[in-house]
Amino acid sequence: APAETPQVVIDAHGLPYLDPKLSVRKRVADLVSRMSLEEKAGQMTQAERGAIGAGGDIASYDLGSLLSGGGSTPTPNTPAAWAKMIDGYQLRTQATRFQIPLIYGVDAVHGHNNLAGATIMPHNIGIGATRDPGLAEKAGSVTAAEVRATGIPWDFAPCLCVTRDERWGRSYESFGEDPALVKSMETVIQGLQGARDGSDLKDDDKVLATAKHFVGDGGTEYGSSTTGSYTIDQGVTKVTRQQLEAVHLAPYQTAVDRGIGTVMPSYSSLDILDDGQGPVKMHARADMINGVLKGRMGFDGFVISDWNAIDQLPGDYASHVRTSVNAGVDMMMVPYSYKDFRTTLIDETNAGRVTAQRIDDAVSRILTQKFKLGLFEKPYADTSGASRIGSPAHRAVAREAAAESQVLLKNSAGVLPLKKSQKVYVAGSNADDLGNQTGGWTITWQGSSGKNTDGTTILEGMKRAGGDVTYSKDASAPTGGYDVGVVVVGETPYAEGVGDVGNGNDLELTAADKAAVDKVCAAMKCAVLIVSGRPQLIGDRLGDIDALVASWLPGTEGDGVADVLYGRRPFTGQLPVTWPKSEAQLPINVGDTAYDPQFPYGWGLTTLSKVPEGGSATLRALALVAAGADRAGADALGRAAVSKARLLVQQKLSSALTPATSKPFADADHLLLTGHYAEAVSKLTEAYRAA
Ligand code: BGC
Repeated sequence: APAETPQVVIDAHGLPYLDPKLSVRKRVADLVSRMSLEEKAGQMTQAERGAIGAGGDIASYDLGSLLSGGGSTPTPNTPAAWAKMIDGYQLRTQATRFQIPLIYGVDAVHGHNNLAGATIMPHNIGIGATRDPGLAEKAGSVTAAEVRATGIPWDFAPCLCVTRDERWGRSYESFGEDPALVKSMETVIQGLQGARDGSDLKDDDKVLATAKHFVGDGGTEYGSSTTGSYTIDQGVTKVTRQQLEAVHLAPYQTAVDRGIGTVMPSYSSLDILDDGQGPVKMHARADMINGVLKGRMGFDGFVISDWNAIDQLPGDYASHVRTSVNAGVDMMMVPYSYKDFRTTLIDETNAGRVTAQRIDDAVSRILTQKFKLGLFEKPYADTSGASRIGSPAHRAVAREAAAESQVLLKNSAGVLPLKKSQKVYVAGSNADDLGNQTGGWTITWQGSSGKNTDGTTILEGMKRAGGDVTYSKDASAPTGGYDVGVVVVGETPYAEGVGDVGNGNDLELTAADKAAVDKVCAAMKCAVLIVSGRPQLIGDRLGDIDALVASWLPGTEGDGVADVLYGRRPFTGQLPVTWPKSEAQLPINVGDTAYDPQFPYGWGLTTLSKVPEGGSATLRALALVAAGADRAGADALGRAAVSKARLLVQQKLSSALTPATSKPFADADHLLLTGHYAEAVSKLTEAYRAA
């Protein structure tokens, strides 16, 4: 970054677009009317910071945007260094004719995850397990506040993928397999952006959000691509038009209604089985981007391509450029090929293969968001909120999210919660590994094992909870007077690239993990925690395990996991995806005709021992359950209370519950998510009477 100290600001040369008292619409129209084609093409170009050196190209090519791809961090990786770096780039725009500020973007997909010391939330799969839209919103607010305080106004999140086959390695970025669940968690958009009309985007604690990856990213066959190894999580989604609408498109209408500022198309191809076109890459689908998203759904933000995604289109580079721009992509993430892209776009437009109107539309959409973010008035970082980064208040939200995300799959003989008086033997690969529990997109792109940032492991959390704990990672000598063993196993980090075209072993625990489980569970009563981005196969081992917990990727606050283990908070999480018995069952999703999973969608025992605070609404909901459905009453009580009632009823019945008898609970869950409270209550009543 250059050494100059950035200082205020845009040259007051008196043009209307610089007047903050004018409407955004007028300012955009004024600016666009003055710009050359070269300047417009530059606005549509996004380069990677690592590709532009000290930043001279920003002015030479009129670049509109920069990004840090995963792990593309300044040295040192501190809030001040981020702000200084971005300010340095921003300063370069002062040398351009209209001094249009850059918009800088990062993937902050579970907190400000590129920044050392930031608060790291559970990955989305865990947020889905909480079934708590208020919490998803709070997590979004924390993320936005930490990101904006380092000078970054734009976040490539949330992922609205509906994961339908957990061989897809990005399943952890999904809130779950049910589109209704994904929709309910889109409160995160308000957490990130604030008000639906974008009027909070100027604030120092909000960011522009990105709904991604449009559309069908979570629905690819085998969760994978059949060609190449790099593109293994970028396959083909084969669906009927009806399935496309109901499963994959529905969350985008919600995002548009919530005022989402940007949308990113998917690397995957879409094959609509009843339209006869065969698979077409999403970045070329004018029917979806122009037609459905911008047309029917009324999306008025801008579309940002995925990283180098246009290079995957058929034909030569000129056709990549015109096809994607004409399909409706407004800004191109062309990290290292930004010069080629801009030149080619200019040539294609001069040749009439991209119209001037299309260019003006794209540039207007981009500038509209820059004006809404207040970047023309305040292009440089406002670091006044930097003390919030990794603060106790923010970590408390992440801790709450970690606790609420824990799903208790099995709990025989009341092994959980643990008591402080018990001698606990802790073992396993993920008990004391912050990197494994934070997963991919943490400090580096793919994430890494070991101590990767500030935070507390599950083991540390258990000790801090006052537990009488002894630890051995590989479960050596697990005998000798322990009351209970806690074995924490699961995945090591990955972000992208993971898929499995029929290899059959993606969801297997490692041999070392299996050995640790077997050793401890043979020696004592045991609880097994699985720290992973997706279900892992347990199979017959389930019989030897007394308590089983899906911990997902809980983030930096191991204390939250310890909270539920030691009963400081009840287990209340519910499965966001179906837990299969075997790889052969995949894909398996709630609503399938043949549905015989190990644990069904929505499953989750609770350790609630009394009516929680705010219990009066819950008690009324319970009364409704007992009395049968009263539509008006149940609707008035709303989702939260009925949801708690569900847990209380389930707890009462928990000894009688088996995966097979739990169907009404999965049904009730779906009904709750879709706002059918009365029907949910009647399902619960049915379950209650049947038991
Ligand atoms: C991912 C996107 C991400 C982009 C920028 C791509 O590889 O698919 O989700 O936003 O990189 O880092």
